[in-house]
Amino acid sequence: MAAGIGAAAAVVHAGPIITSIRQLRVRAFPALAGVGSATHVALTFDDGPDPASTPLFLRELDRLRYRATFFMLGEMVDKHPSIAEEVAAAGHEIAVHGYRHKSHLERTPGAVFDDAARAVDTIAATTGTAPTWFRPPYGSVSFGTLRAAMRLGLAPVLWTCWGRDWRPNASPDTVVADVDRALKPGGTVLLHDSDCTSAPGAWRSGLGALAPLAERFAELGVEVGPLGQHGVANKRPQVEGHAQASDLLYLEAASGIEPLYRDLQSLA
Ligand SMILES: [Zn+2]
Repeated sequence: MAAGIGAAAAVVHAGPIITSIRQLRVRAFPALAGVGSATHVALTFDDGPDPASTPLFLRELDRLRYRATFFMLGEMVDKHPSIAEEVAAAGHEIAVHGYRHKSHLERTPGAVFDDAARAVDTIAATTGTAPTWFRPPYGSVSFGTLRAAMRLGLAPVLWTCWGRDWRPNASPDTVVADVDRALKPGGTVLLHDSDCTSAPGAWRSGLGALAPLAERFAELGVEVGPLGQHGVANKRPQVEGHAQASDLLYLEAASGIEPLYRDLQSLA
C-alpha cells in the first residue's frame, strides 16, 4: 500500500485533472476506496452519533439484520455518549471520522493529528472499542491524514459510492438512484446517520433508502456488513518526510464531483 500511495500521489501531483481523480482512486487505491470482496457490500455511516436520528438507523438496521460501520465524530460522541454506546452495544463497527468536522486541507498536519488522536481517545473511551478505520471529513485526504493514520494505527478508507443524502433536496429515491449508479459487488456505500454537517433532516432520505437498497443488495446477491467483514486490506499507511496541509491527495465530496467508478469488476 505504501508504494501504491507514493506512485499515485505522484500522478495526482503531476497531472491534477480533477475529473480523473475518482477513477484513479478506485484503480490505484482499491483498499483506500473500500473495494473488498466481490460477494460483499460494506455499509457505512458518517457524522453521528445523533440522538435525533441514529436510534432510528439502529432500529432499521436491526430489522434488515444488517451490521454496519459507523464513522463517528468525537465531538458528537462527547455530546451524546449514550448513543455511541448504543451503536457499539448493537454490534456495529465503530470507526473514526475525526473530532471536529473540518477538512484536512484546511489544517496543518499537526492539527490533523491532534484532532484524530482526540477522536480516537474519545471514541475508544466511550464505546470500549479500539477503532481501526479512519475516514477524514469530506473524504479529503492530505499528507497529514496519512501520517496521522500511520501514527495512530488507523487504516484510511473512503467509499466507492454515496447516496448524496446530505443535500436538502435529496429523497429516498434520489439516494437509491445515486448509490445504484456506482453500486457493484465489493463496493463500500457511504450514507449519514446525522444531519449535523448537512441540511436539517437530511438523514431522513438515507434512512428511507435503506429498505429499497436492501432489495438492490439482494438482487446483486451480496452479503451486507461492516468494513471489518468486507475483505478490504486494513493497513495503516507508511509515509515519510514532511509536507504542507495543502498537499492534496484527494478531493472528494467537497468538490461535488460525481463518482467515476466504472472498473470495479476488473478489480474485484
Ligand atoms: Zn462527514
